[in-house]
Amino acid sequence: MTYSRLFIFMLALSTSLMVACGGGESSSSDSTAKTEEPAAPAIPDAIELAIEGNDAMKYNVDRLEAVEGQEVTLTLTHTGKLAKAAMGHNWVLLAKGTDVAAFGTAAMTATETDYIPADMEDAIVAHTSMVGGGETTSVTFTAPASGVYDFICSFPGHSALMKGTFVSRGR
Ligand code: ZN
Repeated sequence: MTYSRLFIFMLALSTSLMVACGGGESSSSDSTAKTEEPAAPAIPDAIELAIEGNDAMKYNVDRLEAVEGQEVTLTLTHTGKLAKAAMGHNWVLLAKGTDVAAFGTAAMTATETDYIPADMEDAIVAHTSMVGGGETTSVTFTAPASGVYDFICSFPGHSALMKGTFVSRGR
């Protein structure tokens, strides 16, 4: 068995060498070098995600995905026209176990920090700044441990409609 495997290996090697030689001698333009695909696609170290918020108090997606440990750059674009004070949007990724309603209530009074409650750092994985119509903002963070997380806009009253699921997949 060992010998036959070795033979097949040698055969394959010599075949590929012949192919390589043949390709070298040929000036044909349609012979393209074939690269071997890895068995499983590699998980990128970093990914970019995008989400939009509008004047109708809605995000354009309710689900985002990453792989745990990935460097995620999330860009939030406010596609509306209303000012930040009237229809501000941000993107807040909440830690597991965070009570979304309780967080929303705490955020309402955090006017000096753009509705990010200062005393609830443990409840937040990552968040963008608050933007108004026509503005864009982004945040870079490490995708948390595999699991399902909630994301919301923490502008007063918005989390009822502006919410979704962030899925961090295991490796
Ligand atoms: Zn909002």
